[in-house]
Amino acid sequence: MKAQPKASHFIDGAYVEDTSGRVIEVVHPATGDIIARLHAATPELVIRAVLAAKAAQADWAALRPVERARILRRAHDLVRARNDEIARIESLDTGRALSETLYVDAVSVAEALEFYAGVIPAYNGEAIALGGAFAYTRREPLGVCVGIGAWNYPFQGAGWKSAPALAAGNAMVFKPSENSPLSALILAEIYKEAGLPDGLFNVVQGYGDVGQALVEHPATAKVSLTGSVPTGKKVLGLAGSLMKHGTMELGGKSPLIIFADAPLDNAVSGALMANFYSTGQVCTNGTRVFVERPIHDALVARVTERAAKIKIGDPLDPSVTMGPLISRAQQEKVLGYIEAGRQEGATLHFGGGVPVMQGMEGGFWIEPTIFTGVTDTMRIAREEIFGPVMSILAFDSEDEVIARANDTEFGLAAGVFTQDIARAHRVIGKLEAGMCWINNYNLAPVEVPFGGVKSSGVGRECALAALDHYTEIKSIYVETGDVVSVF
Ligand code: NDP
Repeated sequence: MKAQPKASHFIDGAYVEDTSGRVIEVVHPATGDIIARLHAATPELVIRAVLAAKAAQADWAALRPVERARILRRAHDLVRARNDEIARIESLDTGRALSETLYVDAVSVAEALEFYAGVIPAYNGEAIALGGAFAYTRREPLGVCVGIGAWNYPFQGAGWKSAPALAAGNAMVFKPSENSPLSALILAEIYKEAGLPDGLFNVVQGYGDVGQALVEHPATAKVSLTGSVPTGKKVLGLAGSLMKHGTMELGGKSPLIIFADAPLDNAVSGALMANFYSTGQVCTNGTRVFVERPIHDALVARVTERAAKIKIGDPLDPSVTMGPLISRAQQEKVLGYIEAGRQEGATLHFGGGVPVMQGMEGGFWIEPTIFTGVTDTMRIAREEIFGPVMSILAFDSEDEVIARANDTEFGLAAGVFTQDIARAHRVIGKLEAGMCWINNYNLAPVEVPFGGVKSSGVGRECALAALDHYTEIKSIYVETGDVVSVF
């Protein structure tokens, strides 16, 4: 199986290769086979990409928003037309099952393009009456923005960052994670075919040093990063030291609270989606499942029954519902946490092992895993695992569960299942999280702002909020009378 792109990078409207850059081996997580060999961008290529973006940005920003929107709408059509191809590349690159990638990845980017093409012509400043004078504001693009992606949703990451950035009149240089570098190149092809002028969306491959070089370059104005908290702190620190803008979409250890009155099967569906989708590699996952004691045993029984039906296997088989983890390192990390859970006294209730997959023995497999008897101080309840490991914790009262849910450095997401409407809103109002769900979990439509609080992030993606983070306000005072002077 091969998925070799035409070249490693896409700069100034064309594929570019420079084999002197460090090799990036692209591995199919289901087999461990190398499906492509790319090269990290050299410092010269990083500079070339930033300068191409800078050269193209001013003319792009000068277009009427309806003209920019027209190109984004064409890109939307092309993303939808290439949906199946994108899904296959995404499944090869990340190991996530086709049963997800066919319906989520290209679709969410198409919707982002559709959304920002629709709203940008009406995204304007304000007019402010000041008696004899008035003022108005303009929403101006920042210039060249850097996008840095994580490995779990590489196409979505590239699309969610570039669609609002471009709509607002910026240019972007995007660096995918070296673990999943392929699909951002398809997005670059699509933008080109849609008529986006060369240089406005560039893809450069590389490791952390390439991301750092992009942020450091004097011609870049902003970085939007999806990644882990330690990386986010480093990158935001660097951006801050250079007085550049930063949006950080980082990790979490989110609570999913199930009250005893919740319809059991919906709550179970929520808990399963909140832990096992994408083999647990979702930043918003509700990995601390707090269950009110009267329904604890019934919920555990039902979750286990349904987890046993998860079909693990070849991500390219459309009937498979769970693929492997992204890499050997991630598999070892997740297995380490499972061992820590055992040693700290949690009950390994389900899974916890590495399944033997016939013909795919080189893959990074892991069983969906459920721990019960988890307490708040255990590492599996405190640290982000980023794998299919559900921790179930019992609780007795509303105040108690709110305090326990908030007792974390993270604040990305939270969910509540209950039929008591007053309780649902009261509890959500007290949870320290950016993304909250009542009676569902993990849905992220582009119309809704997305992002975290506390250590889970700064700024927002999606919705109109993302446009605010890709623009700067210019305020203009207009005098209609005489100048009052004390001199
Ligand atoms: P990492 O933090 O390891 O990497 C994120 C990106 O930053 C990668 O492209 C990485 O490159 C790059 N990078 C690393 N060091 C630097 C640096 N010093 N300067 C600039 N760029 C750098 O995250 P993962 O890729 O492992 O992704 C998993 C994490 O992402 C999880 O913690 C998860 O919760 C979070 N995440 C958050 C989401 C959100 O929206 N809140 C959504 C999805 C994931 P390289 O790959 O070469 O290291």
